[in-house]
Amino acid sequence: MSVGDTHTIQALNSASLPVTEADLLAHLQTLTQTSTCAKTPGLGPIFGQLQAAVTRQVPYDGLVSDLNKRDAGVWTAEDEANTEQFAKLYQVPVCSEFWRQGDWNGTVAVSQAQPVPGATPATNVYFATQKSVRPDITQAVILHEALHNLTGLSDARLYNLLTGTAKGLGLRHSCVISKVLIDNGCAVGAPQDDLCGEK
Ligand SMILES: [Zn+2]
Repeated sequence: MSVGDTHTIQALNSASLPVTEADLLAHLQTLTQTSTCAKTPGLGPIFGQLQAAVTRQVPYDGLVSDLNKRDAGVWTAEDEANTEQFAKLYQVPVCSEFWRQGDWNGTVAVSQAQPVPGATPATNVYFATQKSVRPDITQAVILHEALHNLTGLSDARLYNLLTGTAKGLGLRHSCVISKVLIDNGCAVGAPQDDLCGEK
């Protein structure tokens, strides 16, 4: 970030969310190494790190955070592989992740997947904060985003990790990741059924 750059990330009081990191943490604390969640493909090796990842997660208001995605660490290896597009991420603010042509695009949250140099590990999550969207912020969403913080993986790679498959998400909405987390007991709540269908 250049000196004088006023683009910023806006902290969010997690107590204002319908479901908080503390709620998810309380659930995770009930899970053992022999739970279905711990046996989720790919989750076993990092199961012991989930509580710490959720504890250190810091929520921000995605709608007004206009720091560029590169400096915010909101990018993955797939972004980095596309050199031209990757350079352009310095011009793309985090808040643009939530809009398409002036309307909310259905994105509930996005995460910092890259640790900012000198400030490891990644901790930040950006939420859509409109009143109408807040009910969609669930334990599964918070955990899904904590997994981005923890693994640095994109949705497609995270889906593969959690399902032990190599097929990626295809055209499906990323909330199928949240559905896997709920189905395996890693989080309590209902997925956004309207978004979890095939696109
Ligand atoms: Zn995701």
